[in-house]
Amino acid sequence: MTISQNLGFPRIGERRELKKATEAYWKGNLDYAGLEATGAELRRANWAKQKAAGIDLIPSNDFSFYDQVLGLSCLIGNVPERFGWDGTDMNIDVAFDMARGTDGAIACEMTKWFDTNYHYIVPEFTRATSFHLAGSKIVDEFLEAKAQGIVTKPVIVGPATYLTLGKVTDGSDMDKFALADELIAVYVQIATQLAAEGAEWLQVDEPIFSLDLNDAQREVIGKAYDALSRVRGIRILVANYFGELADNMELFTSLPVGGLHVDGVRGVAEIAAVAARLSDEQTLSVGIVDGRNIWKTDLQRAMAALQPVHDQIGGHRLMVGPSCSLLHSPVTLRSERKLDDELLNWLAFAEEKLDEIVFLAHAMDSRVDKEKLAANTAAMADRAQSVRIHDKTVQQRTAGVTDADYKRLSAYPERAARQHAKLELPVFPTTTIGSFPQTGEVRAARAAHKRGDLSDADYDAFLEAQIADAVKMQEDMGFDMLVHGEFERNDMVEYFGEQLKGYAFTKFGWVQSYGSRYVKPPIIFGDVSRPQAMTVKWSKYAQSLTDKPMKGMLTGPVTMVQWAFVRDDQPRAETVKQVALAIRDEVVDLEAAGLAAIQVDEAAFREGLPLRRSAWAEYLAWATAAFRLTAGGVADDTQVHTHMCYSEFNDIIEAIAAMDADCISIETSRSQMELLDAFVKFDYPNEIGPGVYDIHSPRVPAKAEMIDLLKKATEVLPPERIWVNPDCGLKTRGWAEVKPALEHMVDAARTLRQARAA
Ligand code: GLN
Ligand code: ZN
Repeated sequence: MTISQNLGFPRIGERRELKKATEAYWKGNLDYAGLEATGAELRRANWAKQKAAGIDLIPSNDFSFYDQVLGLSCLIGNVPERFGWDGTDMNIDVAFDMARGTDGAIACEMTKWFDTNYHYIVPEFTRATSFHLAGSKIVDEFLEAKAQGIVTKPVIVGPATYLTLGKVTDGSDMDKFALADELIAVYVQIATQLAAEGAEWLQVDEPIFSLDLNDAQREVIGKAYDALSRVRGIRILVANYFGELADNMELFTSLPVGGLHVDGVRGVAEIAAVAARLSDEQTLSVGIVDGRNIWKTDLQRAMAALQPVHDQIGGHRLMVGPSCSLLHSPVTLRSERKLDDELLNWLAFAEEKLDEIVFLAHAMDSRVDKEKLAANTAAMADRAQSVRIHDKTVQQRTAGVTDADYKRLSAYPERAARQHAKLELPVFPTTTIGSFPQTGEVRAARAAHKRGDLSDADYDAFLEAQIADAVKMQEDMGFDMLVHGEFERNDMVEYFGEQLKGYAFTKFGWVQSYGSRYVKPPIIFGDVSRPQAMTVKWSKYAQSLTDKPMKGMLTGPVTMVQWAFVRDDQPRAETVKQVALAIRDEVVDLEAAGLAAIQVDEAAFREGLPLRRSAWAEYLAWATAAFRLTAGGVADDTQVHTHMCYSEFNDIIEAIAAMDADCISIETSRSQMELLDAFVKFDYPNEIGPGVYDIHSPRVPAKAEMIDLLKKATEVLPPERIWVNPDCGLKTRGWAEVKPALEHMVDAARTLRQARAA
């Protein structure tokens, strides 16, 4: 019989119970027993849900109070020295200290989990690192489920992936992969314990099979699965997800383990090849249900993909599951109230995906639930034809885009001359990245307006007053290019998405981003267009208050799509192109409204890079084109800015230059301008605003520090192309720090200007 299985279930709870409990615990409002009770209840409910849905192989140890990679670091005793852990008593506070920092120890770094929006806590390695089995969470949770009548499949991040994701932090040139033997020994110990307790399967996640692997990684993989396959009484399921195996196919299928899991969504073309390479004892798990998007599975199509594999290897060796852990999906559609019925009928969140998995496993055993299949087929047909999705006008417009639409009228040097004549800015012009502090007052007003307690007119008046204050403050400080402050925005994607056709928003569609931080990504379900201007009112009002140039402020097409659930019925590039045209209209309208500078933020430009290098060129080509399309409709003397709040540009600097923004602001303050290297080496031709104020910290930088940073910049860049600005927007900061910091910044620019004039 075909086996239905799951790789992981969202742990946050239907009503964000996990967030509420952990945050209460951190504040001291919930004791340890209370926290543990919430954890136990979430695990129980999730196991019960999966059992009720009919899942044969249910995961455990997919639960975590913070992050599964951090959980693994704790399990194997890899706690950085600065946290003063005694080496024996592993408890949740050790993990929380690592994730959040303590008075004496700064938190561990956090970064994105492959190409998802989930963040993991980066493991640290030093020459002093050693591993030993320090905790019992994975065994405890297996026994906990067993006591509830469920023999689970414990889940753990694999050794090769763990070493790959970690970072050498002691500045030494140690080879982190040399830690493999000791690490693998701990995995063997874990597998042995689980076998003794009666576990039949251990799922070992190695999504690095979706990356380009080097020899060191391949060697670790070889050793690890050789050792783990020797543990008696338990079968190892090695799971790849987030992509194709490509040239890792041979290594993957040569692993001497009991089972292999493939991403049957992104790697659908490889399923047959993997099946053909298995030995007779091996099980194949096909992740045919998309674990990281929210669309209903096309069951007919999934059955057609699974059937040949089933016929080839037999149901007893076939598992059906999600492509990856359902951690990346919202929990359930059951209580969703914000979406209409038609849209709801196209979607499947984690709970609904369980039903699809079970349906498909049964279907392979000739137990097709005809009613479900008919309903699914109808939903697919409805979606394929719906006029809410397919908008002829939008399609004609994207098809009709010409080469000229991607280009500004003149090249940068000529544009720059016109812009400088119009704007009359001094050297080292000062500006900010867009947002000012979102104070309690601002958030309260927005919430009251949303609830209906504050009328449209009163809310508008409130926002106008905020803008007027911000404009006056910037004038008083002596800023050269002003911003309106973005007080009307909750979030840089949501604000625009709510005004665009083709975007939908949920009420409970939360997905964990990191720790207790969850996001509710919008759903791009249809062709995107802009019914009316989105920001013009605010920017125009702000400009009316000052003679200084005001900068319009928009979110770019790549970011608008990257931070959303996207359509699976057309290429991502096509969706991005539609959004680009919508934002282009806004750019043109802002220009017409008298804004001489417009910034289009592309915060997610770099994170959109595909996992494999071979796919980068294609991505960069359409991502860059989308920006140019957004910016290509304005006159030469309108200055287009962009902003990217990160620092690694070495790999993508050519694409950044090809975007041809008149000015780009980037994050550089923390790296002491080192990040400019890429721009210098490449001889970046346009203007740059290297951030001189680290907005991630409440610290107020002194004027002298910022002068220092700017001097470093002037040593490597032509001074007439340098802007002075913070690293990023200021919305998460308080005015108490922001005011003096900005004063110092403007002052620093003035000092540099004077030195230059002298
Ligand atoms: N304009 C946005 C802001 O200032 C940019 C934010 C970002 O790139 N993350 O908030
Ligand atoms: Zn930023």
